[in-house]
Amino acid sequence: MPNIVVLGAGVSGLTTAYLLSKDPSNKITVLAKHMPGDYDIEYASPWAGANYMPVGKQGSDHERWERATWPYLKEITEKYPEAGIHFLGTLIYNRKKDQESDTGKWFSELVQPNPWYKDVVPDFKAIPSEKLAPGIDNAQEFTSVCINTAVYLPWLVGQCTKNGAVFKRAVFKHIADAANAHHTGEKADLIVNCTGLSARTLGGVNDSKMHPARGQIVVVRNDPGPMLSVSGTDDGEDEALYIMTRAAGGGTILGGSYQKHNWDAMPDPNLANRIMKRAIAIAPSLVKPGQGIEGLDIVRHGVGLRPLREGGTRIEKDEINGVKVVHNYGHGGFGYQASFGCSVEAVALVKEALQSTLRAKL
Ligand code: FAD
Repeated sequence: MPNIVVLGAGVSGLTTAYLLSKDPSNKITVLAKHMPGDYDIEYASPWAGANYMPVGKQGSDHERWERATWPYLKEITEKYPEAGIHFLGTLIYNRKKDQESDTGKWFSELVQPNPWYKDVVPDFKAIPSEKLAPGIDNAQEFTSVCINTAVYLPWLVGQCTKNGAVFKRAVFKHIADAANAHHTGEKADLIVNCTGLSARTLGGVNDSKMHPARGQIVVVRNDPGPMLSVSGTDDGEDEALYIMTRAAGGGTILGGSYQKHNWDAMPDPNLANRIMKRAIAIAPSLVKPGQGIEGLDIVRHGVGLRPLREGGTRIEKDEINGVKVVHNYGHGGFGYQASFGCSVEAVALVKEALQSTLRAKL
């Protein structure tokens, strides 16, 4: 029975642990500084919307991960209402003038009229050009999901625990030290590294390709109906406009921003004002007729750092100080919508890496 440590309890660590825990022969300890329930700038997962808005370029690994994730999210939504995910219609608006901005590049696949994901999500439809508001070049609608992260992350913990995984708080300066913290007291045979942005500073990993894309949000009690995303804004190259209402009373997320290399943990009140004004301008049903931002009932302002990696997400085998490692980090703004696709591949690498260890033990 292999002893496995999953380092990190964000959506990447929890999804990987969940899949690993389905095999009863794996003895799993999930170790993390932050656990579901915490809100911290070093912990991206609670801040996410989160929804499924594919952004991976056609033919890329990223596309493969997002494509592979949809059936899992669909199944969880249908079978487990207690997981905090619901289906919701979404509108996507494209303005060609946003093409070269940071936000426009991030959303370039999402907003194009003939994207690969049109055959993955249900009810994909182009909106006829005569129905488009001035300034919008093309638009589409489809059915997606919106995840209440405050419910979904604990649900994943529950599934892992039910399957025998053990959760412990711990902070490590060097990744190899995590091998000595398995709950059995024995040394772990393998560590899965799901440390997100902290892979930049974690000893033995020190991945300088990791950097943040800062996302600021406002959570409100108002409910505008369908979700909505726009290719960009007129307020700045790295500002964004999206709206989504979470399942199970999770409130509505008004976003946002995509500020690369910006580490600021404090909400910027001016940006918050722009986010709220933009949201009402595009979705007037957020407030009562004639109301402005005073009509929004604010739950909280928030900032999260998307763990972006130059060159893309790292899903790879490694050996550090004699300890086998499988990396699964660097999921930028797509950690939920690519979660199962990435974790299935990480789990396959875990099995591969453990073959030799298991042979030696027999
Ligand atoms: P994290 O959630 O950051 O978790 C890292 C874990 O590692 C934590 O448990 C941490 O404590 C632990 N850790 C790190 N270093 C150490 C150490 N040295 N010792 C012990 N523990 C350690 N994605 C979507 O798919 N859809 C969306 O709609 C969406 N919206 C977003 C909106 C915002 C505002 C933001 C900020 C992000 C959004 N994302 C979205 C992206 C998504 O949130 C991230 O990709 C995802 O949360 C990354 O998860 P992770 O598990 O890799 O990292």
